[in-house]
Amino acid sequence: MRIGVLKEIKVEENRVCMTPAGVEVMKANGHTVLVEKNAGVGSGFSDDDYITAGAEIIDTPKEIFDQCDMVMHVKEPQPSEYELIRENQIVFTYFHFAADEELTRALMKTNSIAIAYETVVGTHNDLPLLTPMSEVAGRMATQEAAKFCERSMGGLGILFGGVTGVAPAKVLVIGGGIVGTNAALMAAGLGADVTILDLDLDRLRYLSEIMPANCRPLKSSPALLRELAQDADAVIGAVLVTGAKAPKLITREMLKSMKKGSVLVDVAIDQGGCFETSRPTTHTDPVFEVEGVIHYCVANMPGAVPVTSTMALTNATLPYAVHLANKGWRQACKDVFGLKEGVNMVNGKITYKGVADAFGLDY
Ligand code: NAD
Repeated sequence: MRIGVLKEIKVEENRVCMTPAGVEVMKANGHTVLVEKNAGVGSGFSDDDYITAGAEIIDTPKEIFDQCDMVMHVKEPQPSEYELIRENQIVFTYFHFAADEELTRALMKTNSIAIAYETVVGTHNDLPLLTPMSEVAGRMATQEAAKFCERSMGGLGILFGGVTGVAPAKVLVIGGGIVGTNAALMAAGLGADVTILDLDLDRLRYLSEIMPANCRPLKSSPALLRELAQDADAVIGAVLVTGAKAPKLITREMLKSMKKGSVLVDVAIDQGGCFETSRPTTHTDPVFEVEGVIHYCVANMPGAVPVTSTMALTNATLPYAVHLANKGWRQACKDVFGLKEGVNMVNGKITYKGVADAFGLDY
């Protein structure tokens, strides 16, 4: 198969959908890989790295779309690419169709095969192509919280780990899923005094087994949350209610009783945010203040660390891409667990219920 690796053109996106190591694997499986010029630069890979791995470097996205059976991206195709996508071409990337009607209708017109990273399902009913980005966001949430606790960044000036004879910072993590677990582990690793809240007792049981002694998993309730928030130096919001907007767990009123210069990191901002006062921010202007409390609400946190994010993402996507290339999409979907759930659109017809329901379209 001829596989196209496109350069990301969405603003602030520096990841790339296949590394040179991935190209080598594709070549070993007998495929040809065409990589758009400078596609890997933002993630630390030069065109020469790709050439050494066996790829051909191509000047324009049009040539890639024209020549390839399967094209890969990280983010959804942008409007300038819609008319380049060909009938029966496999497009394998994050789409998030249900959040974007224009994209959905544009892809339907292309008659392509749209396979979405975000709906591929794993053997534990997990989302294996979303998990790596949650891991990155969770770990980064702690890094950002620690940074904005510094006085020069506007914070209250506390070191997460404390030092000999001096107490560490109090970190509250709300939501004990992938993001929250990674955030809590990082904060505990720095030596902070960490509490992680969840509603799911099975999850809390698991967290109790794996967390170090300086991290307490507790069952969340509005009263406990109010009490812990008042005392916290940093709060990381990491809740997810599948298919719904995030609940507003810290209200504007509650901010008044929080420490001035404490930091809120709202990782759930991509689902509307779990603090009442959150609004999306960007890497170039990541924070704002309400009632003296710093809010960090960047919606695409993994974008800040493209080298790590690209490696994490492609570790997860490459095995699926190899199956698609080796067998074609129909056979790969029969053979590989959970891949068929990734197929969102086939030749203009929506094949994923959630997308059809979002816009009242046929399924
Ligand atoms: P997850 O499903 O693994 O975990 C969510 C957890 O929240 C679950 O354990 C659930 O029981 C818990 N929860 C739900 N409601 C709660 C409540 N009221 N109080 C306490 N706990 C509650 O999800 P995840 O992968 O960890 O993702 C968390 C959030 O982070 C999602 O909104 C996701 O979209 C977002 N995210 C954002 C970025 C970013 O760049 N901003 C990146 C990755 C993920």
